Amino acid sequence: MLSFRDTHCHFADESLAERVCAESLESGIAGILACASSIPDACMLCKAVQKIPNLCFAAGVHPHEAESFDGNFSCFPEFLSTGKLRAVGEIGLDFYYDFADHESQIRVFSKMLELALSMDLPVSVHCRDKEDSEAAYDIAYQYLKDFSADGGRFVIHSYSGSMKYMELFSGLGAWFGVNGMITFKKAENIRTLAKEYPTEKILLETDSPYLAPAPFRGKENTPAYIPLIAEALAAVRQVTPEEISTLTNKNAAVLFSI
Ligand SMILES: [Zn+2]
Repeated sequence: MLSFRDTHCHFADESLAERVCAESLESGIAGILACASSIPDACMLCKAVQKIPNLCFAAGVHPHEAESFDGNFSCFPEFLSTGKLRAVGEIGLDFYYDFADHESQIRVFSKMLELALSMDLPVSVHCRDKEDSEAAYDIAYQYLKDFSADGGRFVIHSYSGSMKYMELFSGLGAWFGVNGMITFKKAENIRTLAKEYPTEKILLETDSPYLAPAPFRGKENTPAYIPLIAEALAAVRQVTPEEISTLTNKNAAVLFSI
């Protein structure tokens, strides 16, 4: 059985995390990075990682939650003390759903990038635009350019933007997260991007419980489905799943120490 890492997923509570991580370990998922959407979510993960050997976490405020964030970072020393805080995330800009006003989203994103630099942690970035717009990518790029110039490292998780921005972000040293979308029938753009990512910058992720790969599309996702994503990525890049395992495990170790 091949071993893999899931570099981006979510858990609603501790008992679910415990059960899913144990099941996933049996499917060869030796390391899982769970991303928080809010500070209370990060507090839950902070407890969970202390009980679950193959789980570590990222703490941050998702753009959807930007308006409700009170600017309080006082929990981070406690998060760090677990030894399992591996990133700031999930953070970014979402101009597709627009659940929070753009000004709040940008303010929180910028604060989170500063925080990541101060703790020397990488960030997991979510970026999404409305169709025919690249406004969120434009703004994210400007902030990430400064961030990377200051030594910051980042992954664009679930990347589904243009080739142009893939190249621009690559120029800043970006990592890219490949998930179940690569198995979707109509996602030719995702496969084209996945073919082009620099070898040393590809990461596997599920974004579970969302985005289950085929043949489970529309059902609840789990890190245990990572091998399906790895197989699809192997086919696109014309390499073996073994090579994808070796490559993405190495990349996850470099960026997140998992
Ligand atoms: Zn996510």
